[in-house]
Amino acid sequence: MITEDVRTSSNTRVSIFDQIASDSHEQVVFCYDPDTGLRCIIAIHSTVLGPALGGTRMWHYESDQQALTDVLRLSRGMTLKAAVTGLNLGGGKGVVIGDSRTDKSEALWRRYGQFVESLGGRYITAEDVGTSIKDLEYISMETRHCTGLPEAMGGGGDPSPVTAYGTYLGMKAAAREVWGKDELAGKKILVQGIGHVGANLVELLVKENADVSVSDIREEKLADITRQFKVKVVAPEDVYDYDMDIYAPCALGATLNDDTIPPLRCIIVAGAANNQLKDESRHGEMLRDKGILYTPDFVINAGGLINCYAELDGYDRNRAMATCENIYDRTLDIFSLARHQGTTTHSAAETLALQRIESISRLNTRM
Ligand code: NAD
Repeated sequence: MITEDVRTSSNTRVSIFDQIASDSHEQVVFCYDPDTGLRCIIAIHSTVLGPALGGTRMWHYESDQQALTDVLRLSRGMTLKAAVTGLNLGGGKGVVIGDSRTDKSEALWRRYGQFVESLGGRYITAEDVGTSIKDLEYISMETRHCTGLPEAMGGGGDPSPVTAYGTYLGMKAAAREVWGKDELAGKKILVQGIGHVGANLVELLVKENADVSVSDIREEKLADITRQFKVKVVAPEDVYDYDMDIYAPCALGATLNDDTIPPLRCIIVAGAANNQLKDESRHGEMLRDKGILYTPDFVINAGGLINCYAELDGYDRNRAMATCENIYDRTLDIFSLARHQGTTTHSAAETLALQRIESISRLNTRM
């Protein structure tokens, strides 16, 4: 199925096996089913801490190579998120190549479920971009290794309120780091993306009397939120030079980049979007050099993963929320480590995650 080799920025050929080896993925499975048209890749990055959990993304990739690059990057990200959150989970991800508006069918998802089942529980799937609860219901007809199901099916339902709560706690920890106390009352906070997570976050911030502004590309989202709460609306193109104390990216990834960081006028970045830094190292440093405290996304948006994890043991939302509360102290620990090591906060979070994996890996080899 994959025919191309990868070319690096220096135009050197890198084989697909080298690419898989470069981030030490344990297993990458290519699945093809001509009857349903299913073409998918499941990447298991690590199972040192537990089964590899991560959602299934359906996307119209321009090439098989692009799908592979995405699944490798996303599955590694899940390993770090689970590790830093203290969960007994590894990191994995699935990508289905196709158009989520036209290429879905019951048979395709059930076939995908069979492939997940064939991995014997080493990979557990969930919802992601391009997949829905309905798709998960089909997948779960063929495999038990599926989370994020509706409450009526014994699952945890929509994880967004839990994600928003963790993000809110991470933001409060950042406030404490910068201003010495974690109160957000009166702070100018802009939430970008008023979707499932963003809307829940706005509610928590308004309750605390923060001075909240919102931005979205969809008019109906803005109409909904302004009907419910007294918040200001900022046009999408005005976000990056808007005068704010806290910028909360809750829409897409890579919003922190060469174009947006120079005009950025905030003291803290703390939001739920995945992969906010376009280049983790360079843009993490650019923010630090500007005196902006970056709250690592994969630390404070772990509520969704915590919610899925809670399903594995008989779901209880109170338990999921309680686990989420650890995000506050963990975020402070990361800030402290970054200060002591003179590194970026992103790098400090990665260090904590990798140290945990390393120490448990040594423990496992002694058994
Ligand atoms: P969503 O699709 O419900 O909401 C995203 C919102 O962002 C939409 O309202 C969309 O119109 C808006 N948007 C898109 N582009 C925009 C732009 N350029 N400017 C302003 N708004 C824009 O998604 P969600 O579930 O709320 O997730 C938000 C982010 O958080 C995503 O990056 C997601 O990967 C991440 N995340 C979500 C969860 C969860 O539990 N849902 C967990 C972890 C991480």
